[in-house]
This record gives sequence, C-alpha cells and structure tokens, in this order.
Amino acid sequence: MPTKYVVVVGSLLSGLGKGIVTASISKILSMYGLKARPLKFDGYLNYDCGTMNPYRHGEVFVLDDKGEVDMDFGTYERFLDVNMTMDFSMTGGKLFGEIIAKERRGDFLGRDVQIIPNMTELIVGKIEGIAEKEGLDVMLIEVGGTVGDIENSYFIEAVRQLSLKHKTVFVDVTYVPELSTVGEQKTKPTQIALRSLMQSGIRPDFIFCRSEHPVGQPARRKIAMFANLDENRVIDDHDTGNIYAMPLNFMKQGFDSVLLRDLDISGVELDRAKLDGLQRYAEAMGQGGGKEVSVAIVGKYIDLHDSYASVKEALVHSGVANSVSLKLNWVESEELEGKSREEVAERLKGSDCVLVPGGFGKRGIEGMINAIRHARENRLPFLGLCLGMQLMTIEYARNVAGLEGANSSEFDVDAPHRVIDIMEDQKSIEQKGGTMRLGSWPARLAEGTRARAAYNAEIAHERHRHRYEFNNAYRKRLEEAGLVISATTPDGGIVEIVEWKDHFGVGTQAHPELKSRPEKPAPLFDAFIASAAGSEKQAGVR
Ligand code: GLN
Repeated sequence: MPTKYVVVVGSLLSGLGKGIVTASISKILSMYGLKARPLKFDGYLNYDCGTMNPYRHGEVFVLDDKGEVDMDFGTYERFLDVNMTMDFSMTGGKLFGEIIAKERRGDFLGRDVQIIPNMTELIVGKIEGIAEKEGLDVMLIEVGGTVGDIENSYFIEAVRQLSLKHKTVFVDVTYVPELSTVGEQKTKPTQIALRSLMQSGIRPDFIFCRSEHPVGQPARRKIAMFANLDENRVIDDHDTGNIYAMPLNFMKQGFDSVLLRDLDISGVELDRAKLDGLQRYAEAMGQGGGKEVSVAIVGKYIDLHDSYASVKEALVHSGVANSVSLKLNWVESEELEGKSREEVAERLKGSDCVLVPGGFGKRGIEGMINAIRHARENRLPFLGLCLGMQLMTIEYARNVAGLEGANSSEFDVDAPHRVIDIMEDQKSIEQKGGTMRLGSWPARLAEGTRARAAYNAEIAHERHRHRYEFNNAYRKRLEEAGLVISATTPDGGIVEIVEWKDHFGVGTQAHPELKSRPEKPAPLFDAFIASAAGSEKQAGVR
C-alpha cells in the first residue's frame, strides 16, 4: 500500500500540544497494526536545536543516532515505543542548507531557484523518500508553529502539494477559550483562524479542540458549521493531566473509524491486547494512590518545566512501576547557593530524594552541589544525570576526598583539582553545533554495584550529550576515598556511572531519561524511586 499522510497543523497559537495529538494519532494507527511514524517540521533556521538554550525551546531530545531534535520526539518515542532517527526531524536550517548546496553543485543550472517550486519540490521529495525508505503505511507530519507564520509558510505549501499526489488527511489543532464570567466556550478565535488555514489552500478534515473543560456540543456544532465539517470531525481534546489517556479519549469519540475511512484503509483490526495495555497504563497513571514519594528536582532551568520533559516522564513511569504517588518539588538551584546546611535542609524539607538533571554553564552550580551534599549527609536517595553526575563527583572530591577547590574545567579552568575535565577529543573542536559526545554509547557495569543491580545486565546502552568527563587522573584517589565507579565504557576509558557506597546515590554521565518508556521505565530511575519508597530493588530481588 502506498504511504498515506496525516498532516497536523495549528491555526491559532502554538504550545497547544500538537505533539501529543500527533503522537496519539500515530499510536491509534499502530494499534491497528499499521506502521505509522511522525515527521516533525520546525521552521527555525538553526540546523537543529542542539545549540538552543532550553529556556528558548524546552528540552533538547537526543536520539540513538546522535540527532539533537525537538522535545516532541520524546513524546513520539514514548507513545510508540520505538527509537526514531534524525531523518524525521526537518528544520528550516537543514532545508535551506540543502537547497543552497544543490544550487552550488549546479543542480539548477540556468535558472533562478525559488521557494515554489524548487523548495517545495525538495520537501515533497524528501518526505516521499523517508516514507518509502521506512516502508510506512502512514506518515504523520507535524508542522511546528502556527499557520500564518512566515517560518512555516513554504512548508505548508509543500504539504498542500503533497496532498495533490497522495491520500492526505489534514488535522487542525485549535484552542477553545472559556470566559469565566459567562461560563461559555468561545469559538470565534477558531473561526477566524480557520480562514487563514483555508486561505493557504488547506481544508481541515478534523479539528481538535484544546480546552480546559470538555468542549460542549454547542461549541463543536458551531466550529463544524464554519469548517464545513460533520460534527463528529470536531474532536474534544480537553486537559486531563493524563497524556497517555489521549488516544483513548479520541477513540471514544469515534475518531479512529472516521480517520481510517478517510485514509481508505480497510481490513485492519484493532489489536485488543495493545488497547488493553494502554487502557491499563492510563488507568494506573490516573489513579495515583500508593505511598507518596516527594522528589526534589534541583536544576537551573526550573522556570520552564519543559526543559526537563523527559526527566519528568521518566519519574512518572517509575512512579507507576513502583505504585507510588509522586510529588515533584521543583527547586531552582540558584536559591541554594551560598546557603548553610540548615538553610538547604529547610528548602528541601519534605523531599524524600534528590535529583540533579543535566545542564550547561556556571550559573546555579554551587546550589546543586549543596543539594547533593544534603542528600549524601542525610542518606537521601540521589540520582545525578550528566551534569548531576559531574557535580556528584565534585561534591565527593571536595567534601569527602579532601580535594579543596575541586571543580570542572567548564566552570573554573584554573581550579586546583579539575576532577571533571574537557574530553580529550573535544579540545580541538571549535564548531559548536553537533559536536558533543552524542547518541547511544555502551557502558560496562561493574558487578556488585547498585547500577548493575538496576540494569540487571552487564552492558547498558544509553544516550549522551556532553563535552566534559570524569578526569581519570583522579580515579584512584576518589576510589580510595570511597566513591564507587560502577560503569565505564567497555574499553575502560570513560567513567560512565559513579555511586556512593552506603546508600542509594548514583550519577550517570548519560541521559537515561531519554529512553524511559511507560511500561519500561529507565532502570536507574526505577531503582531511585524504589529506594526512595523504601523498597530498594537488588539484583534478582524484585
Ligand atoms: N555541561 C556538561 C558537559 O558538557 C554536562 C552536559 C549535560 O548535562 N548534558 O559535559
């Protein structure tokens, strides 16, 4: 069957959760046994989001193949339980780079190169190429930004052209505000936004209405009328706080059968076991209950929780796996800087465990180190991710191994003990984009360690994104002082995981949160939450 397409756009405002709608539709189709994968277009002129501050763009998600991509890829992978590749991330930067390279090569000799038809044809060709290479039944295409933006205008024109060649369904995600004074759901913004969508030559086949409360029939009927659609094509997508229930919510409204009909797909059957699995998971997630475990997340991009999207999801997955109800205590690390032990304890009061996530640059570092000392001295379970592992090493060097002034050369190039140092092969790198140690790397786990027990395997594969590393010149001294090196690269060259001896404190150079999946929580997160819940899982005990 030739690949069919579902294009998801937003006509009113961004940040509505198009990624979750796209992931949910992919999930629904895959429960029908179809190979469905989402492609994401982002209009910025950056090649990828690897050079962006998380405050500007949320978390940078890393793929096995070293791709540094939009955080929506995290949602796709978690919903579909697949590892995606960077081909599926299209950006303005990549497309313009490619078309200019083609022009320089002489591919367009004799003519002027234009957005239409040259760029749009390039885009259509690339989309078709990926769909064919991957053997997709359905490709979802999520268009970042909002219809009407200059940044995505040529891409929207390209998908319009795509729809002339292939079976294509258009989904518009909109927002239905509710005026608290009159308690009425207002459809006017959607009506106006629909005009700009239709002006670009696209008539939506479905309209997903984001809103605070369930979208009532009067609002749905009105939107349907203005969009020339049947009412059952206007889908309620209100906040539920439980993203894994979204595909089920859409299916309850009969979305799946209408979509399959639109796509001319027949003879497929819903996989009941998969549906039951999703139902069970969504229920378990919605239930909460169980013992309460409060996690202090001490980071430097706390104002924007999206900066830690995968960390949060990995915690949620582990919460469900351990049947505990999680409470997240977000702490801006700068608040803990220059604070006494007592003040730090006061701020972290009530937290059962501490997590320090990844990050770059000097700001907030000393606050995170104070939080780690608090966890170590008070025997609270601790999990350090990438930067968190580096700071765990620095804290140990300073406060246990007696290496005064220990630091990372990222924060102080003249520190007397640079226990974290720039990686050898990073020293000559001048270009910043795509040059960190990226993607999936194997680590060999030492026997008898908590990390090994958590993975219950000799080799772990996790994704990385860093330039600095544990300085091997200090390996012996830190080990003698009691820091356990629980994993290294298989050749022994790079320290991958360190841990404390007498209670759960594990720091990993990797970002295990990126591979956590609803029913397969990241092992170190799972062990961390189990330990905080007082049911530490040892190898074979679980
Ligand atoms: N800034 C540190 C490094 O580059 C840690 C990176 C991270 O946390 N992802 O090594």
